[in-house]
Amino acid sequence: MIKAVIFDLDNTLVDFMKMKRMAIEAGLTAMIDAGLNITIEEASKKIDSIYKQEGIEYQKVFDAFLNNTIGMIDFKILSAGIVAYRRAREAALIPYPHVYSSLNKLSKLGIKLGVLSDAPAMEAWLRLAYMNFHHIFDAVVTFDDTGHRKPNPEPFRAVLNKLNVKPEESIMVGDWAERDILGASNIGMKTAFAKYGDTFNTELHNADYELKDISEIILIIQKENGL
Ligand SMILES: [Mg+2]
Repeated sequence: MIKAVIFDLDNTLVDFMKMKRMAIEAGLTAMIDAGLNITIEEASKKIDSIYKQEGIEYQKVFDAFLNNTIGMIDFKILSAGIVAYRRAREAALIPYPHVYSSLNKLSKLGIKLGVLSDAPAMEAWLRLAYMNFHHIFDAVVTFDDTGHRKPNPEPFRAVLNKLNVKPEESIMVGDWAERDILGASNIGMKTAFAKYGDTFNTELHNADYELKDISEIILIIQKENGL
């Protein structure tokens, strides 16, 4: 009997890579418009290498980019970039198709809903609040709650504790096989691979189920629970 569905956040509920791409492109375009002398291609390459080095959640990416490009922070250029980045991010921060309706249906089936994300607490909650998801989930566990990342069992145990369900009464939905799926199945949770959010061209995910659309989770729960 499945009592809870736990979702990864980035590339499972929200198309994080698309959001990032659109926000960065808008930011760079605005910085070039404000006087920065660089092509968008060259600038994109620099941004990619900063993210590679500092991590995709790095908050000072434009500062580092300007230091690297013109040897200083020009605040006119930086501000133009940040404002454009934020506007584009907000516009692009929308859930995948059928996320709202699927969460709604799961709720009506009496299923508890959780989020388990490796993102820092502030970033994860901001993304949830942008999408108006902050009231929908019964439990949210981020990196800051345990100090561990998936596939470490700690974050999985933390979210199950908050939801008060056993591993075998839950199903984990995620796009990252080595983290979401492996970590969940290691502690006895059922698993569904979010194929629609896969950015790695994953060949082998070893999940119990594969989702081409998030709405398929409804049929899986109905089947698991004999409804
Ligand atoms: Mg993910």
